[in-house]
Amino acid sequence: MKKRYLGLVFVLLPAVLLAAGKDVEVEIRGDFIRTSSLPAREVRGIVFVPVAELADLLEAPTYYNSLAQKLVIVLGNHRVKVTALNSFVMVDDKVFQLPLATEFDDRGIWVPIDYFLEVIRGFTPAPLSYDRARRKLILHVEDMNILGVTAEEKINGVLLRIQTLRKFDPSNLAVRISQGWLYVDIYGGRLDTTRIYFSGSNRLLRKMVPIQFSESAQLSFRLAKEIRREDITLSAVESEILVSIRTKTDLPKDVLVDLEKERRKWLIDTIILDPGHGGKDPGTIGYGGLKEKDIVLDVAKRLKKLLEKRLGVKVLMTRESDRFVGLRQRSAFANKHKGKLFISIHANSNRNRRAYGVETYCLGTARTEEDRQIAELENSVIRYEDSWAEYGDLSNENYILLSLAQNSFNKESQELAAFIQRSIARRLGTRSRGIKQAGFMVLVGTAMPKVLVEIGFISNPREAKRLRSRAYRQKIAEAIYRGIKEFKERSERIVLGSLRE
Ligand SMILES: [Zn+2]
Repeated sequence: MKKRYLGLVFVLLPAVLLAAGKDVEVEIRGDFIRTSSLPAREVRGIVFVPVAELADLLEAPTYYNSLAQKLVIVLGNHRVKVTALNSFVMVDDKVFQLPLATEFDDRGIWVPIDYFLEVIRGFTPAPLSYDRARRKLILHVEDMNILGVTAEEKINGVLLRIQTLRKFDPSNLAVRISQGWLYVDIYGGRLDTTRIYFSGSNRLLRKMVPIQFSESAQLSFRLAKEIRREDITLSAVESEILVSIRTKTDLPKDVLVDLEKERRKWLIDTIILDPGHGGKDPGTIGYGGLKEKDIVLDVAKRLKKLLEKRLGVKVLMTRESDRFVGLRQRSAFANKHKGKLFISIHANSNRNRRAYGVETYCLGTARTEEDRQIAELENSVIRYEDSWAEYGDLSNENYILLSLAQNSFNKESQELAAFIQRSIARRLGTRSRGIKQAGFMVLVGTAMPKVLVEIGFISNPREAKRLRSRAYRQKIAEAIYRGIKEFKERSERIVLGSLRE
């Protein structure tokens, strides 16, 4: 897909040219020590680093709004907002001012490392230190020790198994009930709020909210009915904390059978891959005549092989050759074959040849003009379709809003996008442009978790060169595969938790 730069290019140019400097050395101290580095630039002797890359090292998800040139970093329970060419940093609703403004170039927003760390130090559970003289950043990561929760429905109640990586002393555990919530506090517990899983499909606990405090972790569960504190017992073994909750009423057998049927439907056994464009629609044409339709088909075929071989799932493709397929046909195909996930694969292009990186889209109303234009260009394929009039007025976002309201997969789609984006950002060694949303027609009618992955810019000479290489396309397939695998494992842990009974 293409996007037009226009005003944006103009905004980019006046940025101060930063002098390249020696990289900042990074040492990550966890269970073992890893090293890494951050590119550095200097302005009047002050060292700047690209903030998105710093966030990656902190393993903090980021969201970039290209129109406002703002980056949001999710640090545990806090949101840190940084704006290009601006000295103000927002943390939640608090405002901090750096002694000088951030810089901006095609690598994104650059922050003066020293001052920026000063601001975020109070908001990250992991201690940070920066040695200015040696240009060395030391991050202490505490590895997680709480992985997730499975709720098992028993005849006389519910057993919560909190999976841990070490044994917790019972004196470090506490349980209380308040206002329809059950709270479990684990002193010394560390969890990743974005990754922790919960087998929530039981009838007592509606949802789980995980919170990381500086000294402890808290899991709170919304209760579907009243329970009493004296009906709860707590214990801990080597790799589990067990919370058993007695409820008085027994569950009838037929309810359990229905529940099980319902859950089986959610197993991810069929995946639909949708290589964009094809046939008379080449998609975008990039550097050296490289065609989007060819690149994405090849990546999809490689991904299919990996999914079939390693996950043993059925994989169907909306096209397996260079032929034209309409957008509605694609979603109809996915629904007809009862796909459990839908992954549309595209490549990007931009008039600005320096633009590069990967991004993953969910269906939604575009948050920026740039994202809206991307969707509009992807949707423009319908001009090749005979029945284009059926689509109605595309500029009207009501259709997409309506479809969003009707579909219950928005949350799963966002999660799937997060898993895929995280994996490709880590494994491809290119820039992560984040998770975005826009009104892609191909995602509208698809009744399953669905995302659209942009695997790189074929308009960027360097990225086009990489995309031409089979080895790199294999690497992309591998990275998307890993994201799908992690998502599948996590969602099935939730579903399967209660099947074993
Ligand atoms: Zn495309």
